[in-house]
Amino acid sequence: MNSRIHSGIGMTSQRTRDRLVLRLQEKGIRDPAVLSVMRSIPRHLFVDEALASRAYEDTALPIGHGQTISQPYVVACMTEALLAAGPCRKVLEIGTGCGYQTAVLARLAGEVYSIERIAPLLRQARILLRELGLYNLHLKIGDGAGGWKQSAPYDGILVAAAAEEIPEQLLVQLSEGGRLVIPVTAANGVQELMRVTRCGNEYHCETLDFVKFVPLVRDRP
Ligand code: SAH
Repeated sequence: MNSRIHSGIGMTSQRTRDRLVLRLQEKGIRDPAVLSVMRSIPRHLFVDEALASRAYEDTALPIGHGQTISQPYVVACMTEALLAAGPCRKVLEIGTGCGYQTAVLARLAGEVYSIERIAPLLRQARILLRELGLYNLHLKIGDGAGGWKQSAPYDGILVAAAAEEIPEQLLVQLSEGGRLVIPVTAANGVQELMRVTRCGNEYHCETLDFVKFVPLVRDRP
């Protein structure tokens, strides 16, 4: 068992986490379930020990391999957008990274499927998520832009890396009324956080915010 799980002193304590949640509320996050889950998940365990004291600042932080743990506000915003129309039984996440967003989803959805293309990140995330007692998770290595067909359809799909265009495979793996939340890079380089809702064979698109994500990398088959 990771001894860091049991240490909750100073900058990694509950009080620091409560302050972060207050900041999220000030920035407009309203969903009580999202706020409550983020109040309880120890984000400092998902970053390197040397960065633990910064884990409750509302900022993205490096997690190695040129990747970042998403900013808490962005995690809250994406989760809220995914759950706005009601609870999700099955959620697919693309870009597990360190697993923090995965943990948030696992506490709010029935089953979470998550795909990461960098093996050492997935390995570490798998260990930590298990140590935190989250078992309603299915993790796999690969290019998540193709989705995870065997377990489709999903009530929610969350993509944690910016796509040049919305991958069609993700759209077809949405259930009726299902929602895809994804950052999309426009021609001018600006990234828009989009929510796409499936209504039969139609897809309704909304822009939620402007964001900054690492790129969704496509692996050649
Ligand atoms: N939610 C994660 C975000 C990590 S950054 C966290 O907070 O830690 C985005 C992640 O997406 C990176 O780990 C990157 O390796 C992964 N990624 C990028 N392109 C991908 C792809 N095509 N398939 C799966 N994962 C991808």
